[in-house]
Formats: sequence, structure tokens, C-alpha cells
Amino acid sequence: MSGHDLIVIGGGLIGSAIGWGAARAGADVTLLDEGDVAFRAARGNFGLIWLQGKGVGTPRYMHWSLRAARMWPRFASTLQAQTGIDIGWRPSGGLHFCLSEAELQGRRDMIARTRAAGGDIDIEMLDRSALAEMLPGLGPDVLGASFSPLDSHVSPLYLLRALQKGLQLAGGSYRPNFRIDEIICRPNGFIVLSEGRRIEGRRLVIAAGLGAAKLAPQVGLSMPVAPERGQIVVTERLKPFFPYAGNCLRQSAEGSVLLGSSHEEAGFDDGTDVRAGAKLSHLAVRIFPRLAEASVVRLWGSLRVMTPDGLPIYEESQRCPGAFAATCHSGVTLASIHALEVGPGIAAGALPAEAGFFCSTRLTQPA
Ligand SMILES: Cc1cc2nc3c(=O)[nH]c(=O)nc-3n(C[C@H](O)[C@H](O)[C@H](O)COP(=O)(O)OP(=O)(O)OC[C@H]3O[C@@H](n4cnc5c(N)ncnc54)[C@H](O)[C@@H]3O)c2cc1C
Repeated sequence: MSGHDLIVIGGGLIGSAIGWGAARAGADVTLLDEGDVAFRAARGNFGLIWLQGKGVGTPRYMHWSLRAARMWPRFASTLQAQTGIDIGWRPSGGLHFCLSEAELQGRRDMIARTRAAGGDIDIEMLDRSALAEMLPGLGPDVLGASFSPLDSHVSPLYLLRALQKGLQLAGGSYRPNFRIDEIICRPNGFIVLSEGRRIEGRRLVIAAGLGAAKLAPQVGLSMPVAPERGQIVVTERLKPFFPYAGNCLRQSAEGSVLLGSSHEEAGFDDGTDVRAGAKLSHLAVRIFPRLAEASVVRLWGSLRVMTPDGLPIYEESQRCPGAFAATCHSGVTLASIHALEVGPGIAAGALPAEAGFFCSTRLTQPA
């Protein structure tokens, strides 16, 4: 079949990272995205590369995430050198603030469980005095924090823009306003249809976020994803005072402070609710009382893409070989491994071996 080597459906963080990696590995890639009318977590997220506590209880996910974190320096420098876009990646380390004894104990337990699972990550508990030395103006309610040097943060919008520009610089094409409704499997490739337009390709990746649930069954795959709303408050730009990644706040390169993110069951409603914003703001003011003086300039809602057990899905279709699907709820954290391993693997015809654990059959078959 003529056409592209690889069609990627979904220009969010997962599709763009996989497409970038495949294009740099030499594949002729076309990235198709529904556009502004779609739900797009890639444009509404918090921008953390967050490892503390990730995969506790599921060591394979922990190790997959830790490998992704260690790839971030190479990923960020390669992407920035190729595109000239500063993606705002700050390898600052991350702090999870504790405001009660119960929270401190919870973090200690998390560290013990991470070590028991062989997690190759330094996480230490900082008491209030150590933290107050690092952070002038710390609120009196903060009792301590867990700190990991592996956590970091990035500007999600610049990251997305760089991946899409980089894909095009590597010879690929990016087509927004291209909603795919139908996928036809042929013995030697795929045809995707969008409002009278058709694109052909030898291989296909469905990375359409919440849109994947409808597309995947057309190629014999299952993507049982559901929305979870997160809201984020943004303040006016302030002088730099918090260089770290934080579990509930971070300061962007431009100076705005992002407070987030809520976890809400709201179906497909990605709107805002001032009570959630007030709760996020109240917590941030307890951590840094100076934030009480800052003006709020924005509150937005965005939908996470959640699998039933919270783990990623990476899978190739048995019915239509060459058709792949990918989803996860930490697409910023995992962008490096999607770009440097999953994309090149798919370009060469197979998922990386470690990704095989995250196949959707785990959701229907007992372990
Ligand atoms: C509030 C919030 C905070 C978050 N914070 C973090 C964080 O700090 N760190 C982290 O690692 N992750 C975070 N995430 C998660 C992260 O944003 C997602 O994991 C990531 O964006 C998922 O990428 P995706 O490509 O699967 O989905 P999306 O970004 O939603 O992209 C899916 C794309 O598919 C397209 N599409 C859908 N249907 C079709 C179709 N039929 N045809 C063509 N295109 C289609 C859409 O246009 C969309 O662009 C957060 C998410 C939210 C909502």
C-alpha cells in the first residue's frame, strides 16, 4: 500500500512524542489531530515530571517511569537543539509538602515501599527547619516535605510545540483539524477517513486520548479510558521565589504560579468550579502566605485520560498487525521514553519489550 510509513492519530503529548521519535528514526510520519474542539489534556496539564510515589504497588510501572526520568536530560537537550525552542525544562528536584503528621507518615511509608520495590530513586524527608532554610517565607503550617532530585518541571505548551515542530523538521507532517472517524484495515496497511478525506499508511498509532475509546475497537484493540477533571489556578507573574517542582504548586519560567491540580469526577465537563479553585488557593497560601497578595488571573479545567487501573496501555493489534495504541495519565513524565524508545520501536515495527507488560488484556484477565 502506498502512503506514509506511519499514521499517528492524536496530536496530544503522547502522539506528538511517538511521532517525533518515529520521524527521527527515519519513518515518514503524518500526525493527525482533531483540533481545538477536542478534549486535550496536553494543553491543560500541570507540567510535572514527577517520580515520587509513582508506581508504588506496581514495580514495573515504577521502573518504566524511572527510566523515563533518566532519559529526560538527553530528550530535552536533543529536542531543544533540533528545534531551537526552550521547553522550560527545569531539573530542580521536587517537593511534596506535608501539613500534618499523617501526611509526614504517609510520605515515610511511600519511601519505604519504594525502597522495598527496588526503586532506584533518592527520596529524603526534610524537616521544617531544613525546608525553611531552602524556602524563605515558608508558612508556619508546613511540617516538612519529601524531596526527590529526580523530579522536575517543564512548560507543557512549549514541549508540545517543540515536538510538533521537530517532527516536521524531521520530514513528517502535522495536520490539525483532522478528526478521524473511521479506520479501514487492509492486509498491507491502513486507510483512515476524515470528512471525505483519506490518508493511507503502512502502520498506525492511535494516541487520541479520550477519543481512543471509540477508535481502538475498529482495529481490534481496547482502550477503556475515562475522564477525570483537574483544575489549575494561575496567578499573576511574581518575582522568582520557588524554583522547585511542587506537588501542588510550581512557578513557571515567566513567573506565574500554578496551583493544582484537583481530582474530580465530572464526566466530560471540562469547565471550572470556583470552590475547587478556592481549595487549591487556600492550600497554596498555607504553604507560602505571600501568595495571599497575588492576583489570580486564570482558572481552567482539563480532563485527564484515565485507564481503570491507572496504568498505561501500549499494545499492538493481533487482528490488524501494524496498528498500535498508546495511552497513559502521565504523558509529560513519560514523554521522554515515548519519544526515545516507543516511537523508534514502532517505526521499526514493534513496541519495546518492557512496554509489553502494559497490554490491555490485564484489565480483563486475572493476573
Ligand atoms: C489537570 C491535569 C494535570 C496534569 N498534570 C500532569 C503532570 O503534571 N505531569 C504529567 O506527566 N501528566 C500530567 N497530566 C496528564 C497529561 O496531560 C496527559 O497524560 C497527556 O496530555 C495525555 O496525552 P494524550 O496525547 O494521551 O491525550 P491528549 O493530550 O488529550 O491528546 C489527545 C489528542 O487526540 C486528538 N483526538 C481525539 N480524538 C481524535 C480523532 N478522532 N481524530 C484525530 N485526533 C483526535 C485530540 O485533538 C487531542 O489533541 C495532567 C493532566 C491534566 C488534565
